[in-house]
Amino acid sequence: MAEVTPPKWASNLIARMSEDYQVPPPRLHWTKRRKKTSSGSISLLKLEIDIGEGSDKQDARLAVLHEMVHHILLERHQPQYNGEHNDQFYDFFWPIIRRYRFPMKVAIAYEKVGNSGAKRHRQTVTRTYRRAGGRLPL
Ligand SMILES: [Zn+2]
Repeated sequence: MAEVTPPKWASNLIARMSEDYQVPPPRLHWTKRRKKTSSGSISLLKLEIDIGEGSDKQDARLAVLHEMVHHILLERHQPQYNGEHNDQFYDFFWPIIRRYRFPMKVAIAYEKVGNSGAKRHRQTVTRTYRRAGGRLPL
């Protein structure tokens, strides 16, 4: 789908997070999807974020938060951090969800199944969420 100008809220969120964590902002590519859910990805070498915005705005916001966690970790910890959804990723992700006031329940539901749904991945999500002090049932 054709690239469009990112919505103001997304540009603002990325600018704010980049400033809060003292990293250069990524280049943002924005497209629209004919689906409810959004998609997100990051280019490890160029540090560009691609978001495919679905109709659910909350889901699009979570996609931005998720990709920005990759971005910040890559900017700060490459090559020790290589872009995976590992403990390092989620130990940083849960505080971000709190800090930027995204509904925790929604984030948990998405992250549990959002990345292939493999058992090992679910265990990582659970372990890091608990370590971050999370009390919601999983
Ligand atoms: Zn990811």
